[in-house]
Amino acid sequence: MCSPEVMSRVQAVLRGGNGSVSRRGFLGATGALAAAGALAPLTLRAQDATPVATPVLEGRTITYGIVANLSHPLSPTSPVWPGRLPFGVENEVTVADDGFYANILTIHEHIGTHLDAPAHFVDGGTTTDLIDPGQLVAPIAVIDVTAQAGADVDYALTIDDILAWEAENGELPLGAFVAMNSGWSDRFSDAEAFVNLDAAGVQHYPGFHPDAAIFLAEQRSIVGIGVDTLSQDPGNSTDFGTHVATAGAGLYGVECVANLGDVPISGATVVVGGPNHEGGSGGLARLLALY
Ligand SMILES: [Zn+2]
Repeated sequence: MCSPEVMSRVQAVLRGGNGSVSRRGFLGATGALAAAGALAPLTLRAQDATPVATPVLEGRTITYGIVANLSHPLSPTSPVWPGRLPFGVENEVTVADDGFYANILTIHEHIGTHLDAPAHFVDGGTTTDLIDPGQLVAPIAVIDVTAQAGADVDYALTIDDILAWEAENGELPLGAFVAMNSGWSDRFSDAEAFVNLDAAGVQHYPGFHPDAAIFLAEQRSIVGIGVDTLSQDPGNSTDFGTHVATAGAGLYGVECVANLGDVPISGATVVVGGPNHEGGSGGLARLLALY
């Protein structure tokens, strides 16, 4: 536990003078914690890994018995954003003919379970390779809106949904990854149902309301958000306000997250095996939940 004095110092670093959370302030926060001697060393249990230096996870102990897969397998029939290139696989060599097996992939950065780097919506924003690894291991908060989304395919996750989660589980932990579970993941194997275009070519599926994204960026200290749909914004968004809010705050997003209904809504840890190509706006991600 942190003393009130330490936490007030951290909050001062995190919030800055205007209540906004800057990436620099966020990364500096654990420095303040460490300087105050509040942190125990990172311990990873159940595996023999070398802990990475992390500004977010320091002091957090992970204990788990289950590793859950939160990524959909990708295939040439997987859903794509309307008009974008589908996933392509071309066989290059086979064991039978060449002694070894390999394929050549054609892959858009934003297909399947994938990460949106801040650079996706901010010119000069952080690219895939430059996201701090400490932000890719995070406590995951799953906000269940399956009932709301079941009644309204255009449902936009609200600030009240976040506050309802907090009323049950306490305030979102420092460095949280906040994921929307709308139940939409079940449609992933049916691309048409997943993208859900209407006659006018407008997509319909749930996402975060921009006000909720701004709330998370400004009033909480998170590393990113996740959705089980094709976009951080609801499908019918025209201004991509949630993308703009998260990217503008230096947060990443993950879209098409799978199996969120299997994960505890609080207390699990997500490992975002994000893409690592230089200069990327995003890319395929393998998400694992530990709990
Ligand atoms: Zn994307």
